[in-house]
Amino acid sequence: MFPLEKQPATTPRSDPKRPKRISVLGATGSIGESTLDLVGRDPDAFEVIALTGNRNVARLAELAVRHNAKLAVSADAKCYKDLLLALAGTGIEVAAGPQALLDAAARPADWIMAAIVGVAGLRPTLRAVRQGTSVALANKECLVSGGGVFMSEVARHGTTLLPVDSEHSAALQAMTGTELDRVESVCLTASGGPFRTWTAAQMAEAGPEQALKHPNWSMGAKVTIDSASLMNKGLELIEAHHLFALPPEKLDVLVHPQSIVHCLVQMTDGAVLAQLSCPDMRTPIAYSLAWPKRMHVPNERIDLAKLGSLTFEAPDPERFPALRLAKDVLCSGGSAGAVLNAANEVAVAAFLEKRLGFLGIAGLVETTLVDCADLTGLNPTSAEDVLEIDEEARRRAEARLPRWA
Ligand code: NDP
Repeated sequence: MFPLEKQPATTPRSDPKRPKRISVLGATGSIGESTLDLVGRDPDAFEVIALTGNRNVARLAELAVRHNAKLAVSADAKCYKDLLLALAGTGIEVAAGPQALLDAAARPADWIMAAIVGVAGLRPTLRAVRQGTSVALANKECLVSGGGVFMSEVARHGTTLLPVDSEHSAALQAMTGTELDRVESVCLTASGGPFRTWTAAQMAEAGPEQALKHPNWSMGAKVTIDSASLMNKGLELIEAHHLFALPPEKLDVLVHPQSIVHCLVQMTDGAVLAQLSCPDMRTPIAYSLAWPKRMHVPNERIDLAKLGSLTFEAPDPERFPALRLAKDVLCSGGSAGAVLNAANEVAVAAFLEKRLGFLGIAGLVETTLVDCADLTGLNPTSAEDVLEIDEEARRRAEARLPRWA
């Protein structure tokens, strides 16, 4: 259930005096680390149940020990022995492999951070949703690929779904206390990424070193590349559509290079409500962790006098076609989101491996959407359906890759 519809009195944790039991899926990533940074500042308030990672076994073990986790899980079965060795004598339970990851997500907890990158997070996040407690959602690919399936599971289990993406957290904060039908439109801001002022010719030559230099945010590699292509903002439009049940015509994007204003919500009475904070993911994560209250976060405060001005501009659809592709997908619905996401994951991985040029990312996504016209009209009714479409779209994108390289 989306928190705007949920009264604080109905939050699932019945005894506010006992520590909040939390799990972090994707603990070793950028969002996972920021979450655990907050948790570590108030250890008596939290009991860490499960931490999961993929192949970064050393960091997963370190975090599990530091936060006294009950369980540490690697998604990769091949990492089991290394993780067992790293945690020998600590008393922390160890497991590895896809089923162990699902079991970790299902381990009873009051609040679960879903911060695995990519559609790999869909099944574990759905397991977390089925607990019917609170899920903090960073993994936007879940909603892009299988938003319909995902949101119906959220509703079925009465889960409190708390957005972590800074723009969606900002929208929730701005809309709290307002009836959804009084919201005229929601505008997500985008920093514009490292190529905001580059020409198309310069972008064509850009490699991972340039694309990974985000001007404002420190994030994992995949979302950083998505920010550079503006695909990230397209994925976020689809995410907002599912989270807030808003039609495409009520969603928009504005480039705001300072990344201080995260979202602007236009109300029917002419008022615009915005949320402002310095670009630090600990602020939206803290909002989801403490919801419906607030917690103290010792991060930088905005100094508007020092900033001088906040600027806004329309995104350029010519140089950033990924945004247009995502908007088209949002309007067409069906399985188009699963195809878009799969092709983008293939394209970003290929770009990071230097098998694809920067402009080839949107090119490959567009070609794959055309190639998958027979799939995009399908209406998946389960995660398995979504993952089948994802797999087929990946196969076709891989087959087209050499053409764009
Ligand atoms: P990172 O790449 O930093 O971390 C990803 C996490 O997922 C790591 O713990 C990684 O483990 C784990 N992982 C990777 N592959 C798999 C797999 N196949 N199965 C299970 N676990 C896996 O990503 P971010 O933290 O940057 O992003 C996570 C999600 O949050 C993304 O969906 C992103 O779009 C979203 N998001 C991120 C923001 C940010 O500021 N970073 C902002 C808003 C949203 P290991 O370390 O072992 O590889």
